Amino acid sequence: MTSTSHSQLGDVLVLGLGRTGESAARHLASLVPSRVSSVTLYGGADSRPGERSRALELAGVSVVTGTEAVEGSYDLAVASPGIPLDSAFLRSAAACSRELVGEVELAFRESPGRWVAITGTNGKTTTTSLTTHLMREAGMAARSVGNIGTPPTEALADRGEGEWFVAELSSFQLATTERLRPRAAVLLNVTPDHLEWHHTMEAYAAAKERAFANMGAGDLAVVSVDDAWCRSVAARCEGRGLRTCELSVEREPDSACAAFLRRDTLVVRLDGVEHALLDRSDLKIFGLHNAQNALAAASVALELGASPERVRDGLASFSPIEHRIEPAGEVGGVRYVNDSKATNTDSVEKALTAFDAGTVVVLLGGHDKMTDLSSLADAACARCRVAVCFGEAGPRIACALERARDASGARLEVLRAPHLREAFDAAVRAARPGETVLLSPACSSFDEFANMAERGRLFKELVRRLGEGA
Ligand code: ADP
Repeated sequence: MTSTSHSQLGDVLVLGLGRTGESAARHLASLVPSRVSSVTLYGGADSRPGERSRALELAGVSVVTGTEAVEGSYDLAVASPGIPLDSAFLRSAAACSRELVGEVELAFRESPGRWVAITGTNGKTTTTSLTTHLMREAGMAARSVGNIGTPPTEALADRGEGEWFVAELSSFQLATTERLRPRAAVLLNVTPDHLEWHHTMEAYAAAKERAFANMGAGDLAVVSVDDAWCRSVAARCEGRGLRTCELSVEREPDSACAAFLRRDTLVVRLDGVEHALLDRSDLKIFGLHNAQNALAAASVALELGASPERVRDGLASFSPIEHRIEPAGEVGGVRYVNDSKATNTDSVEKALTAFDAGTVVVLLGGHDKMTDLSSLADAACARCRVAVCFGEAGPRIACALERARDASGARLEVLRAPHLREAFDAAVRAARPGETVLLSPACSSFDEFANMAERGRLFKELVRRLGEGA
């Protein structure tokens, strides 16, 4: 561990029996008796005793399952993300605790040096991985933590001397931070999502803005100026005198710190010094949104001391991560691309910009989040030749596309299929050589799959079998 604040934590309560709750409880149990007096974990109403709870009990944690009515008295409560702030569970925990924070906040307090925070509605995982990659290419020790997979409290145990934590932070994780102060933080975009948790766009955007709340002189805020929510965050950061790197793929900002495209070249300007990095076509990750992710990651890496040469090499060598506009093969002159991670309409609209207009056969559908489809329908009409709509949301999407097509006079062909397999077959029949079949479904996967990764793997398996002529 790089540095530890040796405060006494007393009796600590942990909420949630997922990987995050387990990591927090294990970390806290390792501090008994020196800094922690006791660790109690409440798993929540749906939790049951099992292997995880038994292992925790062996580590000295008192585990309570099957209830959200917290009893006792605690100095600190640590919440897992995903438990809504206004839930009875959190309120009951707050009522018997002197302070309530999230797991990320706990990890930061335990080891507060060398944090980078990355947030936004879309692009977090890509930007987090790419930032870590660029830092490592430049010889720095860096590890991706947070929403991307490893809870930061789990990574504390073997945090190397001088190692950077590049933390992908969701709005849930940010909503429960207090003192978090990253050395650099990125806000990529704010578009409607997770409103069932935050209720309003204001609350959702405010949670994301917490990433910058404690930053000060010498830190760097990298903030998009391409959407209205982000622009107001950037203005407030600038208003506070924070060094703010204005991030844009639409125009060239004139601020002292900025990251933008000059024609197709990625350029980062830090305190007036410009670094022209490379051409967008030299990236292996496609689409304008990925140029934005690359600019954000490059700004952070340069700010933290990476040389422009290393950043250039790192940008050129970074491959798409699984399920994010991931090439899945070519059969009969048709390219297949897996973008199963595109679970909201904005990410599909961005993905469509990665391909030539009129050459895309897109697969849309899945669990219906009942989001507004008008902008997606316009984008599909403008950029796709065929759309195959499947799953629970299929019929609603198909109707929205047909309406937009008929209103605009576009030539989009709209097909319907019950599930992903049938949708895939329809797409294969429809696609012509030179075109791309793109799974970028705009929906979560829960109507048919356990998660988006399972959906993406089935798509790749179907492509593989098609290639083998099975
Ligand atoms: P997150 O971790 O925020 O969900 P990912 O990097 O996993 O983001 O990307 C999820 C999907 O969002 C991608 O498949 C892509 O379609 C879209 N996407 C990626 N980066 C951006 C961006 N900067 N702006 C808008 N959409 C994006």
